[in-house]
Amino acid sequence: MRILEKRHIALAILGLALVHSLAPSAHAQSKLKIVTATTDLASLAQAVGGDRVEVNSIARGYQDPHFVEAKPSFLLQLRQADLLIVVGLQLEIGWLPPLINQSGNPRIQTSGPGYLDASQFAKILEVPTEVVTRAMGDVHPFGNPHYWLDPENARRVAQGIEQKLAAMRSGDAAYFQQRFQAFSDRLTQESKTWDAMMQPYRGRKVITYHRSWPNFLDHFGLVSAGEIEPRPGIPPTPSHTIELINMMKRDNVKIILVEPYFDLKTPNSIARETGGQVVVLAPSVGGEKEITDYFALFNYDLGLLTKAFQATK
Ligand SMILES: [Zn+2]
Repeated sequence: MRILEKRHIALAILGLALVHSLAPSAHAQSKLKIVTATTDLASLAQAVGGDRVEVNSIARGYQDPHFVEAKPSFLLQLRQADLLIVVGLQLEIGWLPPLINQSGNPRIQTSGPGYLDASQFAKILEVPTEVVTRAMGDVHPFGNPHYWLDPENARRVAQGIEQKLAAMRSGDAAYFQQRFQAFSDRLTQESKTWDAMMQPYRGRKVITYHRSWPNFLDHFGLVSAGEIEPRPGIPPTPSHTIELINMMKRDNVKIILVEPYFDLKTPNSIARETGGQVVVLAPSVGGEKEITDYFALFNYDLGLLTKAFQATK
């Protein structure tokens, strides 16, 4: 009898303690669940959202963002998401629409309040002026979607995310504003270093595997002399590769930029023929282990690129 009573009292105390410990978090709002299509957007959303958000990216940074294999875990994340942020401009057209559809989450449907297309905030290059046909390859009909590789676009997108988060959680608006400002200030600082690193190489020509780099090249004053893909998304052909090699010899182009998910066979043979150098640049956060955020992405890529420029005068 006494033991039972004691046990009751103990349970009651435990119950009270539980209620007490649960009470504050029950009042505080839970974290906004954000899913992003890519790791770069995840890095920006995390920078702005801080501890008020929980961010997951669907694509990994070492994957080709045009082709991402659907996994059941993605559906679970999308089902619970408050906000989905996409690169847009049809970058994810091959894999994301069915996932959004199957998630059954009305918030993140394209017309829903939790769907954010980040391309609306960015400066977009290569918007086609003619009608796009299949014969042109995988041309993105609304412009080049690889816009996150210009630091100024990251600033614009981060601000767009800040405004969206503030609209969704007005009580945290000041917090998001302050976090965006801190990100923007740091970007200004880092940008000065990056621009100084790249200053000696302005005007240098490079070739790239895919047209992933126009915004990047534009920002740093580099010039694209061609692509290994004869048309966007179309694998290399011998005739196009020979043309490239001839052009590179003629114009003294030595640098070959390749994304980590492409086969190095053709880039390596071009390098052998031209005395050039293949540089595997990461186009996204997480492309290498050490690239843990947006700032690390540029530190990594510019470190490799400046070394390659120095080695191929
Ligand atoms: Zn592309």
